Parts: sequence; structure tokens; C-alpha cells
Amino acid sequence: MIDFDAHLAPYAAHSSKSRGRRHPEAAAGSRSEFQRDRDRIIHSTAFRRLEYKTQVFLNHEGDLFRTRLTHSIEVAQIARTLARSLRLNEDLVEATALAHDLGHTPFGHVGQDVLNECMKDYGGFEHNLQSLRVVDHLEEHYGAFDGLNLTFETREGILKHCSLTNARQLGELGQRFIDKAQPSLEAQLTNLADEIAYNNHDIDDGLRSGLLTMKQMEEVELFARLHRQVVQQYPGLPGRRELYETIRLMITAMTADLVDTTAALLKEADPKNIDEVRASPPLIRFSPKMREETTALKRFLYANLYRHFKVNRMRVKASRIVRELFEAFMTDPVLLPFDYQVTPGDTMKQARKIADYIAGMTDRYAIREHKRIFSLDEL
Ligand code: MG
Repeated sequence: MIDFDAHLAPYAAHSSKSRGRRHPEAAAGSRSEFQRDRDRIIHSTAFRRLEYKTQVFLNHEGDLFRTRLTHSIEVAQIARTLARSLRLNEDLVEATALAHDLGHTPFGHVGQDVLNECMKDYGGFEHNLQSLRVVDHLEEHYGAFDGLNLTFETREGILKHCSLTNARQLGELGQRFIDKAQPSLEAQLTNLADEIAYNNHDIDDGLRSGLLTMKQMEEVELFARLHRQVVQQYPGLPGRRELYETIRLMITAMTADLVDTTAALLKEADPKNIDEVRASPPLIRFSPKMREETTALKRFLYANLYRHFKVNRMRVKASRIVRELFEAFMTDPVLLPFDYQVTPGDTMKQARKIADYIAGMTDRYAIREHKRIFSLDEL
């Protein structure tokens, strides 16, 4: 029997001590429990759909922009680097990172906001909870159970936040939101790896699209400082290389800061095992200075990129598509594929099925479906 946990710190999530799966299964032998989770995620249908779901820029706007898929891969890469430096479980962070956006709607955040509004009388819609719903119920891959039957630890990492009402319905997994406890270090780490990934790749995508300019970027202290360093080291470097070098230094600065700050916090808190981690305050953190700088960067991106009028135009169009699809299906559920129709009269159940159907759509599928429903020229 391979010891998958030999190199891990005592406070890491150990595969041999996993709280297990909802439907018990024999160990895989050649793979740790979390490797097995990762593999199930990669083979899922929802994972392949990430390729055609928007991160910030719509999928068809350009071939080089991040999609949910490339974003998730970047999060996994950063999370694994961090996990290895801190002797945490790389397999678990990889599984969590690759699954963290599985429940995302088409068209990025606007899709989730609109679907949440549409669902307000039917229990609401949270993309985080939807990611869990995908891996627990919606995937249809196995003979013995619905979903992917992942371990408690991977599911814990996927569920970043959740309302108290929903937490009460989730049993063991929801308990930490009621107790105000923390998840594993691996879950905390994946969360921050997500932030490092999008803060940096959105600068790249923003500049590539022309919605941001290098001159504007100088307003961001962290970027400006590292950019100056690049220009000094490589005078006259062509623009794109200068940008990549700067982003590279930013990712390094953020990951190094996180590792140093966290290592010190762990040394002080000295948790003996994962349960002590869950009872401690958050231990994976940036230093106060880095936290301040990343907050400033986020604020900048929000004002100048996420709310750029060209992004707004797409956002409003996308919200119209999602809302109109939802309303059309609620009014006439007979328009839905048979799998998504329920016994007439059960409005709650029908609404949830419609939310599942819409959330599962890729951007282009949603656009096409909207045409099929509303245009006489499409069938
Ligand atoms: Mg993400």
C-alpha cells in the first residue's frame, strides 16, 4: 500500500484520514482519495463545459482570453505550488481548484446574479452551492450513485460560502457555516489561489482587449512598482514581454507573501491536525500590506474593467438572455427538454430544474437556445 501522506505536515488533509464519501467505496490503491476526486472531476461533463463559459470576456470575443476552464487550470497551478511549499495536500487543492467553478452559469457573474433574482421565490441560486450540486447530484456518470461521490474534504473546499438557510440543509458539510468554523487549509488556500489567478489574468486580458492601458495600470501601486523593476532590468523590452514579466513578478510576489505569512501563522498557532485547523481562525493569509495592495488592485479592476461600458453592454445583453429563458420556461415548461420537465404543478421543483438547465449551459448554447425559443427563423 502506497503512503500518500508521508510528506505532509500534520495539519494537512491526509488521504488516509479522509472523512470519506457519501456512498462508501473501496480504496483505489494506486491513487490517493483526492487524486481519485480530481480524476472524476476531469472526466465530468460540467468540467468540459467550462471551456465555453465566460470568465470576464465572452468566449467568442477572442481565442486568447481566459475561459472558466483556463482560469480553473491556472488556479490549480498556483494552488499546487502553494500547497507544496507549505507541505499541504497538492492532490486535494488540485481537485478543489478544478471543481470550484463547475456550477457557474454562462456569461460569468451576471448569469449567477440574474438567475438568483429569478429564483428568489424558489430558494435562490448560488454558484458555489451549484458547484456542489453538480458533483453531488447532477453528474450522471456512475451506475451506483448520482453525482461524482467525492470525498468530504473536496466537497468542503468547493463550498466556499453559503447562506445559513442553505447551510442548515447540508448536514455535516453545512455545519461549519453555522459554527463559524474554518475549512481545511487546502480549502482556504485554493480560495486565495483563485484570487491570485484572476487578479493577474484579468490584467492581461484587460490589456489585450484594449479596455485597459499600461498608463492606467500605473495607478495600481503593486503593478507600478514591479513594472519599474522590469523596465530597469530589461530596458527596451517589447510591450507584451514587458507585461508578462510584470505579471510574472506579481504572481511571485503574491505567492511568496502568502507562503511567508502563512508559515509564520502556522508556526504560532501550531495546529496538531486538521480538526485544530478547523477550530482556528483563518491561517492562510496575505500580510496586511499585500492584502491592502490586492484590495486596491481589485478595486481598480472593478471600476475600470468589470464596469467598462463595453463589458456592461455584454452584461446587459447576457442578463436579458438568462432572464428571458427563465421566464419562458417557467411560463411554458413544455418548451423544456423532457429530462427537465416535472409533474405539472410542482412549481418549486420545476424552477430548480430550470435553474439547473440554464446554469449548465455554455455561453453559446444559451445564445442558441434563446434564438430557438424566441426566433421564428430557428428551430
Ligand atoms: Mg474562480
